[in-house]
Amino acid sequence: MSDTLCRCGSAKPFAQCCKPFLGKLATANTAEQLMRSRFTAFCLHKFKYLIDTLHPSKHQPNDLAELETSSHKTSWVKLTLQHTQQGLETDNQGSVEFSAIFNENSQFFELRETSSFIKENGQWFYLDGSPRITAIDFKLKRNQPCWCFSGKKFKHCHALL
Ligand SMILES: [Zn+2]
Ligand SMILES: [Zn+2]
Repeated sequence: MSDTLCRCGSAKPFAQCCKPFLGKLATANTAEQLMRSRFTAFCLHKFKYLIDTLHPSKHQPNDLAELETSSHKTSWVKLTLQHTQQGLETDNQGSVEFSAIFNENSQFFELRETSSFIKENGQWFYLDGSPRITAIDFKLKRNQPCWCFSGKKFKHCHALL
């Protein structure tokens, strides 16, 4: 498992990418790192991490319950970063434009958002963003690994459904 590729699409092993952030062994140095690690946290249902990295001004009493409910129907498939503005180690704010593909009830959707991030006391937080969601046609080749990360080829997994 240790050399499993990270779900954030960095092409790095999970252990050398988002895992130290999710395990609180390291804090994200850049807005992009926080963005990636939050996507991975959505994939792996690390709800506490998502709440801890959401800016305190945005917290709602039912955050955890909502994350748990939505996680049952949503499978996150793929993250692609489009554009990053500021958000570097020397900045205190930044934004990351991204596309994230997810599956809900066997239909694929693309979520596009420009997320704002803010750094306070040396820690990056997700502040806000306005997601636009569209239904898309997402195709895999039969020999590709299945989108659901079962470890099986598509033809032996969701292609059969
Ligand atoms: Zn990662
Ligand atoms: Zn599958």
